[in-house]
Amino acid sequence: LVRLRSRLSRSQNSLGKGLLTLLSRDHLDEDTWEEIEDTLLTADVGVAPTQELVERLRQRVKVLGTRTPDELRALLRAELLTLIGPDLDRSVRTEGGLETPGVVMVVGVNGTGKTTTTGKLARVLVADGRSVVLGAADTFRAAAADQLQTWGERVGARTVRGPEAGDPASVAYDAVREGIAEGADVVLVDTAGRLHTKTGLMDELGKVKRVVEKHGPLDEVLLVLDATTGQNGLVQARVFAEVVNITGIVLTKLDGTAKGGIVIAVQRELGVPVKLVGLGEGPDDLAPFEPEAFVDALLG
Ligand code: GDP
Repeated sequence: LVRLRSRLSRSQNSLGKGLLTLLSRDHLDEDTWEEIEDTLLTADVGVAPTQELVERLRQRVKVLGTRTPDELRALLRAELLTLIGPDLDRSVRTEGGLETPGVVMVVGVNGTGKTTTTGKLARVLVADGRSVVLGAADTFRAAAADQLQTWGERVGARTVRGPEAGDPASVAYDAVREGIAEGADVVLVDTAGRLHTKTGLMDELGKVKRVVEKHGPLDEVLLVLDATTGQNGLVQARVFAEVVNITGIVLTKLDGTAKGGIVIAVQRELGVPVKLVGLGEGPDDLAPFEPEAFVDALLG
């Protein structure tokens, strides 16, 4: 947690600091409110949440009258937390069925960090005492299966893979079967993220989902988004949400952007919580998303 805070704060706190400086002005005229709005939009908070936040801040500041720096900080902290949703269920479900392992499908556009996230998640689960099978259903990107297998070997999870350019759904099917045969606790299925056509993607992910569900419940569909891609990431998110029922968001590369507002924007866009964040390329760089720690990092 300490690491999460320091990793985030290095880049994120410009948003919080900028807002606090603006709110500390003696006279909050319209120009200042516009600057506050711009600061939020620049940090990728998104239009609707920005307007909501500015409206709330206007009301609260009016009620407050004179403002000490501590009061302002507390006010901003509370409002940002409300926007992020401090009480959403952010646990990654992996219970599975009576006789079947928990199954988590990991989806997202190539390059966002899907395979890395799958590997890191396996590591977390194995460290937690769960046995994990990995399904390399990203058969489109030639190196993806090798990459996943390397993660598997590193963390102690078997990787099920198929022929190159083979059918992703059949790999997913085999992975779940393997998971059942081994009595594994969790199967993580890494999928391909080709956004070439929406119907192509829909067919592929839909099919993976259907074959997985033949065996039992699908616990999670995690959408991996690259935090550095800003509004583009939101467009991708929308397409995936139309194709599969996303249950949680993983925001990767949060270590590489100062635009932490994307957390707020993407949750609003999908109506689904950010559950995990990627904070680097290393094996330990996947963390649960903790709203309070995140807001504290934003405020510096
Ligand atoms: P995929 O195509 O979506 O499976 O993407 P990969 O898992 O291959 O990741 C693409 C690149 O992003 C790799 O170089 C990863 O090491 C890097 N990456 C993944 N997650 C993170 C993260 O949280 N932070 C940083 N800085 N890099 C990441």
